Amino acid sequence: MTSDRVEAPVRTVGAVADELYLKCIRCGKCLSVCPVYRETRIETLSPRGKVALYRAVGEDDLEISEVYAGKFYTCLMCDACREACPSGVELDLILNKARTDLAYSGLMPESLRRLDETIIAAGNISGEDNEQRLGWTANLESMPIGLDHGGQAEAAYFVGCVSALFPASYSIPQSLVRVFERAGVNYALIGGDEHCCGYPLFLNGEGERALAMAHHNVEAVRDTGAARVVMSCPSCYHMWKHIYPELLDNGELDGLEIVHETEMLAELAKEGRLCFKPWPVTVTYHDSCDLGRKSGIFEAPRHVLRAIPELTLVEMADHHENSLCCGGGGNLETYDRELAQALPRRRLQQAQDAGAKYIVVSCQQCKRTLFGGARRERIRIRTMDLAEVVSEQLEGEADA
Ligand code: SF4
Ligand code: SF4
Repeated sequence: MTSDRVEAPVRTVGAVADELYLKCIRCGKCLSVCPVYRETRIETLSPRGKVALYRAVGEDDLEISEVYAGKFYTCLMCDACREACPSGVELDLILNKARTDLAYSGLMPESLRRLDETIIAAGNISGEDNEQRLGWTANLESMPIGLDHGGQAEAAYFVGCVSALFPASYSIPQSLVRVFERAGVNYALIGGDEHCCGYPLFLNGEGERALAMAHHNVEAVRDTGAARVVMSCPSCYHMWKHIYPELLDNGELDGLEIVHETEMLAELAKEGRLCFKPWPVTVTYHDSCDLGRKSGIFEAPRHVLRAIPELTLVEMADHHENSLCCGGGGNLETYDRELAQALPRRRLQQAQDAGAKYIVVSCQQCKRTLFGGARRERIRIRTMDLAEVVSEQLEGEADA
């Protein structure tokens, strides 16, 4: 398949980060890009501050306390600091190592510990019966063909917890399967056999618990017979593409192609299997952290948008690898909801400044976060997932 994927910096699970902080020259470049610091102006919550705290524990025996732990969980894990650092400090590794140490020390905050227990017990982040994962199919005009693929599916669709279990996000998988069916894609749904990808566990520093999820999900996808697995969630995609290969034994993912909906939609558009009607609006595209900066996919969604006649695509002040987190990353919303809810404001303002009437995203979490922010701030801008845009702008039958 065609891909404009940029080589993403691959994290090393469990890497020893103890010496990484030595590269920090305290220049402060990371402060200007950190959404948490820009909102709070608290040095110990900044990337530089976190590096200094991590170093103080390692070198000066600073006592690890709940206050110390809170600094590391007040973070979006968005990687903007790593991208900005001129000294090559691998802040993502430091932040992940710190959270792993804290989880082992029993210092993970209670709200996050409860999230992890829910995932382990239920197989999903909401705690609902996992068999409810197909609830979004209930009001489709007809049952999706993915439920009866006869072992011939070319792609298994891994829906992800948010889109599968939160009604406000149902329209994303509904749109994507509608597009697949119009384009003649034979896909498989996994339903109750799909479990959380494990990324929230990994972000909380519980890589070993995430491993159990990885084993289960790879087996569930293998059972469909498909050689390709597609995700609409960038976090699931990042987990499968970049973290699973490091967690799993060699060979467990062999022969399985992992793609994001944006890549698949770009491929279908390029092959002429999607025909669009004109849409004379100005839109901007929001690069989610997990898909863009952390996974290197920037151009596929833009190719799809440019294929829609009369659409004008504009860029916000911060885009591609410099994109600004919407506030939905790092499990911050579970730990500090008030802070997380303050963060979309700046992003929405950038979209307005760019003259956009729509923010197009490729992430159910970004859609929810930016939609909620626009409503709270009374900003008149619409947020749509790329799959919803494509579904609404399809014209006629796609070429087979
Ligand atoms: S940008 Fe890098 S070197 Fe500069 S303060 Fe931040 S972590 Fe340290
Ligand atoms: S990962 Fe994002 S939120 Fe966390 S310290 Fe770095 S820039 Fe700030």
